[in-house]
Amino acid sequence: MSKEADRPKVADLLKCAERGVEVTVKGWVRTKRGNKNVAFIAVNDGSTIHNLQVVADVASFDEELLKQVTTGSCIRVVGTLVDSLGSGQPVEVQAREIELYGGADPETYPLQKKGHTLEFLREIAHLRPRTNTFGAVRRMSHAMAFAIHKYFNDHGFYYLHTPLITASDAEGAGAMFQVTTLDIANPPRTEDGSIDYTQDFFGKQCNLTVSGQLEGEIGAMALSKIYTFGPTFRAENSNTPRHLAEFWMIEPEMAFYELEDNMDLAEDFLKYLIRYALENCMDDLEFLNKMYDNDLIERLKFVTDNDFVRLDYGEGIEILSQSGMKFEFPVAWGLDLQSEHERYLVEQHFKKPVILINYPKEIKAFYMKLNADGRTVRAMDVLFPKIGEIIGGSERETDLDLLQTRMSDYGIRPEDMWWYLDLRRFGSAPHSGFGLGFERLLLFVTGMSNIRDVIPFPRTPKNAEF
Ligand code: ATP
Ligand code: MN
Repeated sequence: MSKEADRPKVADLLKCAERGVEVTVKGWVRTKRGNKNVAFIAVNDGSTIHNLQVVADVASFDEELLKQVTTGSCIRVVGTLVDSLGSGQPVEVQAREIELYGGADPETYPLQKKGHTLEFLREIAHLRPRTNTFGAVRRMSHAMAFAIHKYFNDHGFYYLHTPLITASDAEGAGAMFQVTTLDIANPPRTEDGSIDYTQDFFGKQCNLTVSGQLEGEIGAMALSKIYTFGPTFRAENSNTPRHLAEFWMIEPEMAFYELEDNMDLAEDFLKYLIRYALENCMDDLEFLNKMYDNDLIERLKFVTDNDFVRLDYGEGIEILSQSGMKFEFPVAWGLDLQSEHERYLVEQHFKKPVILINYPKEIKAFYMKLNADGRTVRAMDVLFPKIGEIIGGSERETDLDLLQTRMSDYGIRPEDMWWYLDLRRFGSAPHSGFGLGFERLLLFVTGMSNIRDVIPFPRTPKNAEF
């Protein structure tokens, strides 16, 4: 490894027990204060929520140089690690040498000190990772992605890359973005006037995927347990704090798992991830708990310490109907639950995460296994406080005839899905899986309340800047 790769970061220096050693610090200046004799420069390199204090004897440095060390500038400091005289930090660096990598004009640098709204910070998504809040969120996002791979690796799952461009418009999970190289101002037409997709890049109409599940099932029918973790796209025009047009989804798919096994996995997986955050991200959690959500850490512990409630959709409807609540959207057997209903069950009624199962078949996807009652399917939605639905999943239909009937109910042509049906023709097996929205998970573990603030570059209706 190069010397630079081995150089201790601010997080390491703050934990370092040695004193009097020479260190090199590289990072961005958060603040500079002081007087005519001494300057205190708070430096952050993204490795921790905490800054490292650099102390510079004004007389030992070029005045012009120190003037350019302003909030937002980037510097290299060589100095001695010593006990800090001030409170608030264990160590500081007594500077011997300062190099300015890049200045930041105080007149135009948008991130002066503090107090910016999250809405304003969204407009400067290229600079917001340099704030405490977004640094914390990004580090936690990394920790969660790492923990997801670790969990699956430790439990015998294989990571499967499913395609982002797909020709199957059958997932039924939401509106799609079309992928085409045709001239949209003047597309080729067939004799009946419709667009001639045989001349398009793939020779047929293609879209960005809304889910990797159908291909995930191919993987499970060979490797037993797989998971995907990749981008998904939904052209749904829903401007909510929980929906993005481009988001990342984790989709495990397991052969031989029935609905019960699927629920056990979802609960164990979510608890593992939250425990991982509590064990590895406490500095960032304490900051977010203090600044945004005073119940955050409590809520995370509550989820890891309690069993999720498992409830029939029918019973859920019963509870909602008898709640005496005035909901904006109607409640009746056969209707889908809205976020307000999901949150009532979780936050007011049970005060625990809820796994709702056995939904009416009409409101769920064609591939979900039909129950013996002929009118419900083995679906499961995991509902969380503050979020509502965090996971959607099901046991899959394996009966070829039933599956074909369900497909024709949805107007899906069997010839378009021949490979999916083949999985039921050759070596079929009971299997199940679910999808976890990565950014919904981040909303929960960070306590942030808008999904635009947990993804680095949000894609939402009328917004694709950066
Ligand atoms: P919702 O009812 O909240 O729109 P959905 O029923 O469309 O969700 P699924 O198709 O089951 O969701 O997708 C699986 C998971 O992906 C959801 O439980 C959620 O965590 C996440 N998810 C779905 N749509 C979005 C979106 N537009 N933005 C971010 N995450 C999403
Ligand atoms: Mn949706």
